[in-house]
Amino acid sequence: MSAARAPKRKDQFPGDEDSGLSSGHNGGVADASSLRVAVIGSGPAGIYAAEALVKQTDGNVHVDVFDRLPTPYGLVRYGVAPDHTSIKSIARYLQRVLEQPAVRFLGGVEFGADVTRDDLLACYDAVIYATGAMVDRHLGIPGEDLPGSVAATDFVNWYCGHPDAAGLDVDLSADSVAVIGVGNVAVDVVRVLAKSADELRATDVPDAVLTLLGGSGVRRIHMIGRRGPAQAKFTTKELRELGALPHAEVHVHAEDMELDPASAALAESDRHVRGNVAVMREWAGRPVGDLPRRLDLRFWLRPVEILGTDRVEALRLEHTTLNEEGRVVGTGTYETLPVGLVLRSVGYQSVPLPGVPFDPLAYVVPNDGGRVLGEDDRPLPGEYVTGWIKRGPTGVIGTNKADAAETVRALLADLTGRARERPSIEALLESRRVRAVTYDDWLGIDAGEIALARTLERGERVKLAGWEDLRNAYRPH
Ligand code: NAP
Repeated sequence: MSAARAPKRKDQFPGDEDSGLSSGHNGGVADASSLRVAVIGSGPAGIYAAEALVKQTDGNVHVDVFDRLPTPYGLVRYGVAPDHTSIKSIARYLQRVLEQPAVRFLGGVEFGADVTRDDLLACYDAVIYATGAMVDRHLGIPGEDLPGSVAATDFVNWYCGHPDAAGLDVDLSADSVAVIGVGNVAVDVVRVLAKSADELRATDVPDAVLTLLGGSGVRRIHMIGRRGPAQAKFTTKELRELGALPHAEVHVHAEDMELDPASAALAESDRHVRGNVAVMREWAGRPVGDLPRRLDLRFWLRPVEILGTDRVEALRLEHTTLNEEGRVVGTGTYETLPVGLVLRSVGYQSVPLPGVPFDPLAYVVPNDGGRVLGEDDRPLPGEYVTGWIKRGPTGVIGTNKADAAETVRALLADLTGRARERPSIEALLESRRVRAVTYDDWLGIDAGEIALARTLERGERVKLAGWEDLRNAYRPH
């Protein structure tokens, strides 16, 4: 499978000649005395930062929220599973922040290409980086790049209708699939694969995705943890959803549920582990039924090689155990699982931002409570960070709210004196012939998706998936 990359912005919107910023929903430019802050990234982390800025300054601020995409809400739109509608409804809360007079959305502006770090530091009193963690971590095993070995991040982008993934060549003809990892993303991927087209019809997945998922040949899904059930990262609520699927049955190997003393102690002391273990014990050793799909939760197996000549044919796994320090080690016993598709769901990773310090081991921007640190470990004036690129890809969406509030408190505490006159971002974008996608433009996309759902007689919204479809929803042809 391969993803089509986004076309360069200037090719994307030929003929766009002004910055487009005078025509936005709330396109007013701040009065010169108010603090001007640029937030890079319009996912929950960025929008919670905008909200905290407005709240902590009593509205005496102008916040520009930039995004590479023409659509706001980041992982709420392109990460939260389509059938998790109550989590998706967080978008309505984020929308109210974007609609505040002090906040402006500037979509389709790429940091590092259309605007640089130096540009933003000149035009704003402060910059907050909130670009999340958008790429997959690698397994580092042979065969990882074979066709049919797919990063969960790409697969999730595809079913969520991310424009970069619209061209992903998804082949669901295999009978057996392996999902590596036992976190909540793996659970999402397994659930989407296990659901029928009827169960997904009312969701916002693009129509082409619904057709492919509906025609899927997948019958058996193996979900694979390299440690034991007590060390699984998924949460009990999400795990239970697998047991409630009407057309799929879940199996757990009874021997995997025999916990070593350390794991048993963890299951006693940790509510989250206790819940997970109790649910999996219920499933362990259940007789095989006759539902169309089967999910096998496997533990104590680590992937060592993805096998195949032209595409994935099997996954070779080594049995594992925990050593005295609690680290996972191989036992030297192997098994080979015949599978035609491997989905690697082993966590997200942040990518460095051009010109901004980056810790290549922790994959975060080095920071102290949100203040970006330079090479000498001292805070860099005017630069802040929040969300996954600040603390790594952990926690739920709400975790970003307190995180953003901490960053904004640091930013405001650092301010000295009145904001000074600065060059205008509007003039800078215009000089580069970068036409930002305004909040009103986004509302055009929003309306297009709602209208499409009505036409197709499907749910509240159906995603417009490709760059061209998104563009056509707000630009006259
Ligand atoms: P995650 O929770 O960190 O899980 C990653 C999984 O991959 C773990 O089981 C990990 O095992 C495994 N793994 C890592 N490296 C591996 C390797 N080399 N070989 C085999 N397995 C490996 O990450 P995630 O699932 O991507 O989720 C990211 C965050 O988003 C989490 O905070 C999650 O809760 C959140 N999220 C929440 C929801 C929801 O609330 N519904 C939905 C989706 C995501 P080890 O533990 O052994 O490292």
